[in-house]
Amino acid sequence: MAKVIGAVVIDTEACKGCDICVHACPTDVLKLNDQVNGKGYNPAYPANHAACTGCKICALVCPDMCITVYQYKPDKVA
Ligand code: SF4
Ligand code: SF4
Repeated sequence: MAKVIGAVVIDTEACKGCDICVHACPTDVLKLNDQVNGKGYNPAYPANHAACTGCKICALVCPDMCITVYQYKPDKVA
């Protein structure tokens, strides 16, 4: 089976920096940004995006549905 790679997009203005996704990610992709968003929270971002498998755990655990996950097969990537 072809390996799947993933990419996450996080709505940083909706994120409240709760850290749940950071701890839930099995491959340590996510971190909290040092800079705050418009609400004063430190939003999550994909600091180690190359390690994302597209498993969607982060999107499932986020209480505010801030995360969208895309999955790619390497042979389909331009
Ligand atoms: S999709 Fe999976 S591997 Fe990628 S950031 Fe989310 S939890 Fe981590
Ligand atoms: S779980 Fe959602 S609200 Fe919490 S830090 Fe992650 S993206 Fe932000």
